[in-house]
Amino acid sequence: TNGPNGASGPGQLRVAIIGGGIVGVAAALGLRRRNMAVRLYEQAGDFREIGAGVAFTTNAQACMALLSPAILAAMKAVSTKNESPYYTYVDGYRRGPGQTDDDADLSETQLYRLHAGTTGFDACHRAHFLDEMVKHVPEGMVEFGKRFDTYAFDEEREEYTLRFEDGSTATADVVIGCDGIKSRVRQVLLGEANPASYPTFAHQVAFRGLVSMDRAVAALGKDKAHNQCMHTGPGAHLLTFPVAQHTLMNVVAFAPAPGAWTHERMVAPATAEEVRAAFAGWRPAVRAITGLLLGDRGVEDGGGRLDKWAIFDTYEHPAPTYASGGVCIAGDAAHAASPHHGAGAGAGIEDALALATVLELAVERLQGDDASNRRRKSATVAAALAAYDAVRRERTQWLVRSSREVSKTYEWANPDCGTDPEKCLRDIEWRAHKIWHFDIEGMMAEAKAAFARFLSA
Ligand code: FAD
Repeated sequence: TNGPNGASGPGQLRVAIIGGGIVGVAAALGLRRRNMAVRLYEQAGDFREIGAGVAFTTNAQACMALLSPAILAAMKAVSTKNESPYYTYVDGYRRGPGQTDDDADLSETQLYRLHAGTTGFDACHRAHFLDEMVKHVPEGMVEFGKRFDTYAFDEEREEYTLRFEDGSTATADVVIGCDGIKSRVRQVLLGEANPASYPTFAHQVAFRGLVSMDRAVAALGKDKAHNQCMHTGPGAHLLTFPVAQHTLMNVVAFAPAPGAWTHERMVAPATAEEVRAAFAGWRPAVRAITGLLLGDRGVEDGGGRLDKWAIFDTYEHPAPTYASGGVCIAGDAAHAASPHHGAGAGAGIEDALALATVLELAVERLQGDDASNRRRKSATVAAALAAYDAVRRERTQWLVRSSREVSKTYEWANPDCGTDPEKCLRDIEWRAHKIWHFDIEGMMAEAKAAFARFLSA
């Protein structure tokens, strides 16, 4: 049995975080900075992320800074800015005026540009970012090889006992499930029979990889390789952006996948033929990029192996709540979005900030002088997590829906826009602005008000 970690006194909250991905680690650092006794349980033997890109908006970065300046510093240490203040959307499919189908003609018609200015993304290599963050995780805060199975609440002791698959247990006042898209905490919270406990297949697969910038520039030219570019087309799309201080270019190619996903894991081996077939009739530039994915696999993905990633999300069955009592879910565990806004991890960082805000209020309340005004610890924690749910659910479930919808715009399948560049730009823009221009102070104020409301209810 693992005891509580860190200081434990009146009003001290012992927080168990399940899952050491980007959101779990960020939450852990933010809560620890607020003097909570945090313990993080990760099923793997160490922290690991994949060799792929992840990008954060300025707004997500502001949340990082509020959570803990160390998180933002970690991201800044490894992130890459777009060279241009614009993201470019090109026609990856049709031959434009003056263009030929010759393999050497890598031109694509620019359809529109989205102004990102200072509000857009900084991109980084996932593993590099996690490695940087982990440097700030103190010794003893994390237990590896702990696969969470279930929890039970002891009314009398007002604490949760967590049970892990290896038979060990641990206790905590608050349990935060940051255990990703297949979250076990979500299953226990919502019930195993609840369809909202499971993600579903979005009938899309992504072929992704990092290619060396030298080869990307040789194939695409400097401007395209060093700046984010969305290659739009019918029924599929392909995104490229620079990462790792412009030494690598991240490629994600999305293709339709009708039918069920029958593999046990969400990643399965793919063949070069599949990738080629998905983009067969496309412009030479797009075929050159898929060629880079196929031919330049030495950089990160280990030789000739190519994977496809099944896109699952919580679109069909959104969670009816993110919290119950002293247990909650955050990040992909609460709202797994298809990656078309590139904002899932950013939304998880916002969650972590909301949690830090309400749990800090709970601690203040529990440590307050006025004993007559004090509620039971569990009631205070439950009010804090209900407030977290209240401020996070709508925005994050919108993100899940909008991610699916914007993918249709990239793929010329949004009935409101079709292939009209102006309408497509307007559609992409309002969605992006909703993600980028988020009122963080407003969320924190709302969380505070909701906490007071739930506490007095
Ligand atoms: P995860 O990273 O999945 O971490 C969960 C952790 O929990 C893992 O370490 C796992 O081992 C552990 N775990 C699971 N079960 C248990 C258990 N039972 N017990 C103990 N530990 C457990 N987002 C962005 O913001 N920007 C982007 O540019 C972006 N691009 C993307 C591109 C693609 C192709 C995809 C698929 C996603 C993208 N996203 C992006 C979304 C982003 O990847 C996720 O939202 C984010 O990684 C989720 O982080 P997380 O910490 O919630 O979950």
